[in-house]
Amino acid sequence: MTAPRDDAPGPSEDAAPGDFDHDWIVVGSGFGGSVSALRLSEKGYSVLVLEQGRRWRAADFPRTNWDLRRWLWLPLLGLRGIQRLTFLPHVSILSGVGVGGGSLVYANTLPVPGPEFFRLGSWAGLADWEAELAPHYATAKRMLGATPNPHPGYGDAVLAEVARDLGRAEHHRPTEVGVWFGEPGVETPDPYFGGEGPPRSGCTLCGACMTGCRHGAKNTLDRNYLYLAEKRGAGVLADTRVTAVRPLAGGGYAVEARTRLGPFRWRRRRFTARRVVLAGGVLGTVELLLRMKEDPDGLPALSPRTGDLVRTNSEALIYLLSERGDVDHSRGIAIGSILHTDDHSHVEPVRYGRGSGFFRLLLLPHAPGPTLGARLRRMAADLARRPLRYLRAWFRPDLARHSTVLLYMRTLDGFLRLKLGRHGWRLWTRGLASALSEGPAPAAFMEEATDLARRFEDKMRGVAFGSFVETLFGVSTTAHILGGACIGADRESGVIGPDHQVHGYEGLYVVDGSAVSANPGVNPSLTITAMAERAMSLVPPKGA
Ligand SMILES: Cc1cc2nc3c(=O)[nH]c(=O)nc-3n(C[C@H](O)[C@H](O)[C@H](O)COP(=O)(O)OP(=O)(O)OC[C@H]3O[C@@H](n4cnc5c(N)ncnc54)[C@H](O)[C@@H]3O)c2cc1C
Ligand code: SF4
Repeated sequence: MTAPRDDAPGPSEDAAPGDFDHDWIVVGSGFGGSVSALRLSEKGYSVLVLEQGRRWRAADFPRTNWDLRRWLWLPLLGLRGIQRLTFLPHVSILSGVGVGGGSLVYANTLPVPGPEFFRLGSWAGLADWEAELAPHYATAKRMLGATPNPHPGYGDAVLAEVARDLGRAEHHRPTEVGVWFGEPGVETPDPYFGGEGPPRSGCTLCGACMTGCRHGAKNTLDRNYLYLAEKRGAGVLADTRVTAVRPLAGGGYAVEARTRLGPFRWRRRRFTARRVVLAGGVLGTVELLLRMKEDPDGLPALSPRTGDLVRTNSEALIYLLSERGDVDHSRGIAIGSILHTDDHSHVEPVRYGRGSGFFRLLLLPHAPGPTLGARLRRMAADLARRPLRYLRAWFRPDLARHSTVLLYMRTLDGFLRLKLGRHGWRLWTRGLASALSEGPAPAAFMEEATDLARRFEDKMRGVAFGSFVETLFGVSTTAHILGGACIGADRESGVIGPDHQVHGYEGLYVVDGSAVSANPGVNPSLTITAMAERAMSLVPPKGA
């Protein structure tokens, strides 16, 4: 097994291939970055991955999300966990940080989008995306170990009843998930890559996938793509935030970064590479591109669409708290089943592991309405109608044991534009703000989602809550932020071309969620992985 490479060499210590420190530098180690690192290493290139978050062993993950130091990413306050919360004027965003990116914190769910995804959006007509991506979806599923969940939990049983009530029982099915089930808690040699990968332990159904799997059962990227990339010689430098990417006079790029050496101690670094993959996720990649577009020595010729066409899965996240004390909602994997409520919409019940109750601090009763006044009136009326149920549900001691989160998603689009924020916003968001783009912004409330939540309330003896930003400000929350560096035929219609290369900047690529150019309407990681597989399949082997 390759030793962790937190101390991977920088350019001064490294053997230089040609005139560059590395053939390729990959910024970010999430889905797009990890696929790129492996496939480029396999093609014979020297690859360095730079990741702002830390490297995690299974035992390092927090036991619950009350352990803010290990769970929350807020480096200004010294919190260097895996979960980043970003509050922008038009959307609140959950995303992942660390070696393995969003895979550390995600809920393992790996669906393939419906046919509309491949036909709509800024990439429409530039390729037969459905046909071209099909083999790459298959590879992505194999690499991520996608398998149907064999263990439905309580939330899944409730969803099955709701599906029957709606006359759509045949559209309710187990999720395909990147989890090793095996024997619970029992370690087994690598079951996926002919013994080349790390060992796994069978899933214990502890429900804690979104606070980091402490059992080694979740197929995070550091156990598949990144692990194999490091075996093939890729370097992964953790705790290193990329601050600039500048073209060099004779071709290639200089990448400036800061490596964290300790609290308030940083080392400035500069690397060069013939080619660069930006894979910092939407928040990382779009922020970097926007900064470089403003910098005359950076990337001033970037497309005017940089930061535009940012979309969510048009999600609603509704917390259902139950007054019942006799059911444990937290048993199972994070997302165990999915119901296709119609051709455009899906709903999944989501769980956290026992003891994880941090989100209680952010919740207010779910109260849809067009204005703050309307929402507050609705909240007051609902509290007055069912005061005892609210009290009993709210004061149940362990939120995760007594609640299910409904994740409703649909393919209908709402757009935002990301831009650089004023100083006030920078403190919290590291520089990003949002503005309205073409069409409506992602909606905070959707009738269908509220109807599903009410059905769950009845069956669970529960009450529905949402994030305070929804109830107070009418702002939606997403864990699936996408776009901002979309595919387009030219720089007027998109930031990158169909081969993921940035228009106007040869050798600079965007391979992550910001390249997703239509709304998949379902959890996007498998799609990001498949798109990355396709993009890297277009790169010729070294020396070819
Ligand atoms: C709680 C939660 C649950 C989710 N569940 C699911 C699910 O079940 N299924 C699903 O499909 N999706 C899920 N998602 C969404 C999924 O995690 C993301 O869509 C996916 O991780 C995005 O992949 P990416 O390649 O765009 O980048 P990411 O995976 O976000 O990785 C980007 C990486 O780049 C790093 N980075 C950013 N900027 C810089 C910089 N300047 N320098 C160095 N490093 C940088 C970041 O720290 C991060 O590690 C979930 C997300 C959350 C938050
Ligand atoms: S349910 Fe628990 S053991 Fe299973 S993958 Fe999730 S965190 Fe790991």
